Amino acid sequence: MKIAIAGAGAMGSRFGVKLQSAGNQVTLIDNWADHVTTIQQQGLTVTTDDGTDHVYQMTAKRPQEVTTTFDLVILFTKAMQMDQMLQQLSGVLGNHPAVLTLANGIGNIETIERHVPKDHVVAGTTVWSSSLTGPGHITVTGTGSISLQAMVPDKFPDLPGLITTLNAAGLNASPAQNVLAAIWKKAGLNSVLNTYCTLFDCNIAEFGGLPNWRKLNDAVLSEFEAVATAAKIQFSAADVTALIAAQFDPTKNGGHYPSMHQDMAKKRPTEIDFLNGYVARLGEKLGVPAPTNALLAQLIHSQESLKGIK
Ligand code: NAD
Repeated sequence: MKIAIAGAGAMGSRFGVKLQSAGNQVTLIDNWADHVTTIQQQGLTVTTDDGTDHVYQMTAKRPQEVTTTFDLVILFTKAMQMDQMLQQLSGVLGNHPAVLTLANGIGNIETIERHVPKDHVVAGTTVWSSSLTGPGHITVTGTGSISLQAMVPDKFPDLPGLITTLNAAGLNASPAQNVLAAIWKKAGLNSVLNTYCTLFDCNIAEFGGLPNWRKLNDAVLSEFEAVATAAKIQFSAADVTALIAAQFDPTKNGGHYPSMHQDMAKKRPTEIDFLNGYVARLGEKLGVPAPTNALLAQLIHSQESLKGIK
């Protein structure tokens, strides 16, 4: 299959390597010039669990250099970069490839549907992970899985075929019954852990050790639940709270600093407008106030400004 990875950072590169190794013709498409040039000249370096480096020769291009068409476009930009990437790839999207996104945050489906017919769009969530260590270099640990669903299930040409392609690359994909609920659940978790750990400069276990973590958690998730209910999206604050508490164990995820914390440390923009910020905006539209989420989004934006992040 001819596959474009549009947004070939940490996750896009990891998926690209796996799909190419399974025999697909993969093109990594990215706006970071140094990253693209390094892959073109030296290959993509992947550091694995045991600390060894593996170099993969991959086709890498800037969006404006892409002229070919693809069967599948996997969008793996950050949420706030997606609209620009889709605009840049408008020519490539002309032949109506399947478009899959597994990016975090709420609102990505709406962004894609501004550029791609809804019946070609597949969305999902993933627990694969990866870090971009530098241009042309990712570090990967562990394994993961994908859960996905076509936006118009009876119109999408071949979801089983897409799942077979992903699974032939060892990506552990399976169909989701309610992908919107899954996206909101993950966003609820991220809107507590990512946001507070970034504001308090702490890891997940340290957040869980705060005497008032439940109060902080409930202030975010009660608003999520009210807004989701008004938007007719299934969301349980109690379920997400249980999932969050399960992350505190220092021998499991507790020692981890969430991705927003890492973005802030690297002086990269955060996905806050697609987490707490999205719920605040949707709440305002639906007449369901979400002042805690609105304030948290502003606090993260203030921190970005203080660090000179644009
Ligand atoms: P990433 O930051 O590694 O890459 C996203 C884009 O930002 C890429 O185009 C990349 O080239 C660009 N970029 C990164 N650093 C840059 C720099 N210093 N200068 C210029 N450009 C730079 O993002 P990611 O971690 O691959 O995440 C993609 C999506 O997947 C996000 O929605 C994220 O929340 C989600 N996600 C990530 C993980 C993970 O473990 N990384 C896990 C699950 C979901």
